Amino acid sequence: MVLKDRVAIVTGGSSGIGRGVALAFAGEGARVVVADVQEAPKRGKYYEVDVTTPAVEEVEKLGSKGMFLKTDVADEADVRRMVERTVERFGGIDILVNNAGIHVPGDTQTLSVSEWDRVVGINLRGIFLGMKFAIPHLTKSQAGRIINIASVHAFGGGGGPVYAPTKAGVVNLTRDVALEVGASGVTVNAICPGYIETAAQDYLTREQIEDARERMPLPRFGLPRDIGRAAVFLASDDAEWITGVALPVDGGWLAPL
Ligand code: NAP
Repeated sequence: MVLKDRVAIVTGGSSGIGRGVALAFAGEGARVVVADVQEAPKRGKYYEVDVTTPAVEEVEKLGSKGMFLKTDVADEADVRRMVERTVERFGGIDILVNNAGIHVPGDTQTLSVSEWDRVVGINLRGIFLGMKFAIPHLTKSQAGRIINIASVHAFGGGGGPVYAPTKAGVVNLTRDVALEVGASGVTVNAICPGYIETAAQDYLTREQIEDARERMPLPRFGLPRDIGRAAVFLASDDAEWITGVALPVDGGWLAPL
């Protein structure tokens, strides 16, 4: 158990990738705070159709301790409370996974300004807030870790005029804060997932999904547990000398670029 008794916060942990990370951490002995706008898992039209149990229930089935905290990562007071309540319950924080993120499809002409602001608020400001309030506790840990979930869309156009820029921003925010906290031993890394089977893909058509499948170098889409395994590695002692990186976990999607 490589994360035995570590305390982890996973934002957006009720569903999809965050849930996959929460369960992977619990399987390695971590105590997991699931911080999300809703406790019930999101059920998609293509993926996660049958997921019904709250993530914390699954964490506890794995023999670990968990806690759900209703949190909107774009809300400063919520994020401050998320950190305070975690410290009250578990005595500190070792790992922060800033995973909550949304994708709103559209181009410069169809996206409204308020939609643009909302995506930036969750995908980028939310990560800043998580780090701002958790770092004073992470620096007290023997193995402080921050893992930010970006995307392969960080590295090029095609993800839309708000999603792609927020994810590029997450990568550079990760590098910047890695430099800020390096001397304290806290590592800060990003994972850049490729196509992962979650309810977030509901906006795609079946044709778009088939087109993506045909272009996958490894012959399957990713699953939340694929990101969970990478997050376990970055959170573990084995990754203590890795910081400031953006790790694609994408089945080879970026390889042709
Ligand atoms: P998902 O299935 O939609 O799950 C995201 C979870 O975050 C949901 O439970 C969602 O709640 C919650 N959430 C949304 N807004 C929030 C907020 N303001 N505060 C706290 N929680 C919030 O998405 P996913 O596919 O797992 O994506 C997770 C992360 O991976 C995102 O940052 C996404 O950009 C990134 N990513 C995903 C893929 C992919 O292929 N799936 C690829 C690259 C990167 P609601 O259901 O109520 O919205």
